[in-house]
Amino acid sequence: MDSLDLLIKNLSKLPGVGKKSASRIAYSLLNSSMGFNETLGLEIMEIQSKIKKCSICGNYSESEICEICASFNRDKSLLCIVEQPQDIQTIESTGDYRGLFHVLGGVLAPLDGIGPEELNLLKLVERVKKENIQEIIIATNPTLEGDSTALYIAHILKDSDISITRIASGLPVGGDFEYADKLSISRAFRGRRELI
Ligand SMILES: [Zn+2]
Repeated sequence: MDSLDLLIKNLSKLPGVGKKSASRIAYSLLNSSMGFNETLGLEIMEIQSKIKKCSICGNYSESEICEICASFNRDKSLLCIVEQPQDIQTIESTGDYRGLFHVLGGVLAPLDGIGPEELNLLKLVERVKKENIQEIIIATNPTLEGDSTALYIAHILKDSDISITRIASGLPVGGDFEYADKLSISRAFRGRRELI
């Protein structure tokens, strides 16, 4: 296997990149300037050491605390719970939501060995005690695991004095947050319902 085949093989391991796209990218890189390839290579190499997880919410950040948590312009009475840091980006792109976030780092999936201990739940309970949160909006994906995780969170927070809501099922059932369009996300937020 030569270098080009190897690059195509590795690129096709990336999400959303099939063999055909991988081949197009590889040939395009082959024709790119040396400077472009070097910069890209360096960015890929440094991404994991430069980007950490925010110590408050779990969002990706280059500093200890992410921009959203550090901002004075966010509504600190609202906390939206998402599965992954990339979901924050999706919700932020709608421009509708001005509250804070909390990243779980996954959903409960007992068959895959993912229990409550594997998720960022202890910190959530801590935040609920310390911060002045009035509403928690659970925005896990509309899948079986996303729904049962939402119920689990509602259950562990049921004694708090906070309104716990779940976004409406405007998103395609079983679909992924990541691929939903802005309008569907805005609608799902507006149509959220009290969970308990
Ligand atoms: Zn943060």
